[in-house]
Amino acid sequence: MFELLFLGTSASAPSVHRSLPSLLIQHEDHRYLVDCGEGTQRQILTAGAGFKNLNKILVTHGHLDHILGLAGLLATLIRWESMEDMDIYGGKDAIYRIQDLIYTVVLRGSQIPAQLHFHNLTYGTFIDEKNFSISCFPVIHRGSDSVGYLFQEHGRRPFLPEKAEALAIPPGPWRRDLTNGEGVTLPDGRFIEPDQVLGPFKPGATLAVVGDTGETDSLISYIQGADALVIEATYLEEEIDLAKKFSHMTAKSSAMLAKTAGVQQLYLTHVSRRHREKDILAEAQSIFPNTIVARDLSQYFVKR
Ligand SMILES: [Zn+2]
Ligand SMILES: [Zn+2]
Repeated sequence: MFELLFLGTSASAPSVHRSLPSLLIQHEDHRYLVDCGEGTQRQILTAGAGFKNLNKILVTHGHLDHILGLAGLLATLIRWESMEDMDIYGGKDAIYRIQDLIYTVVLRGSQIPAQLHFHNLTYGTFIDEKNFSISCFPVIHRGSDSVGYLFQEHGRRPFLPEKAEALAIPPGPWRRDLTNGEGVTLPDGRFIEPDQVLGPFKPGATLAVVGDTGETDSLISYIQGADALVIEATYLEEEIDLAKKFSHMTAKSSAMLAKTAGVQQLYLTHVSRRHREKDILAEAQSIFPNTIVARDLSQYFVKR
């Protein structure tokens, strides 16, 4: 299960109710910040999310509304000597701009105890943890070298307690090893195969996060069948010309993408203050009913 906490949901500039883009994604003890717009650290405080383990930042692209908060966040973390290493992931252009921001503006030659690691992403899987992986794919948005992210839980075969009871397998390490797919010898000498207590394979949850984008056709294959899609909806269809000009989505075009790609749940973010939330929601839901327009500090769970 992935946990989503929307820290900022505004496009380009903040509004009274919406801070600039940032999304905290958590899977068990692992935490990732996707984008870090201005004001993100205050949103983290307001949400009570804490800064612990918040040292992996994934950036969709280098436009200022998505990265300026990194300067403030880093400046704060530097003062905390306990700050661990920080890993910043993104496309090449975004990483260059973030390096300018950090080295030229924030650090200006000063040494810090923590190590900063910058990762120029190539498409494909770049994080593979025990229970999930993260991959990235290309996104077309005003020549910004943008990437989208796909979070995928590894599938597994569930442990069936009723079968374990029927076989009189005692609680303890034997059950754990069987869950991990290892055969075990019980204290009474019997050997038990994992197949005897595991159910059929179940795929894990899949979460797709796309930042700003001017086009959807190329995204379909990457997000096909995802349990949740987070994507922008900067405009309404009545401003389709502006959406095309600035390489953004309308609520309708994001909803069409969700429908075509067969995703389960759509979360719209990067909302312009030119539009009312209820109009964005109505336009999207007329095409894809399972739509939520995310608000700042709203929290959701993505399960299979
Ligand atoms: Zn943006
Ligand atoms: Zn942008």
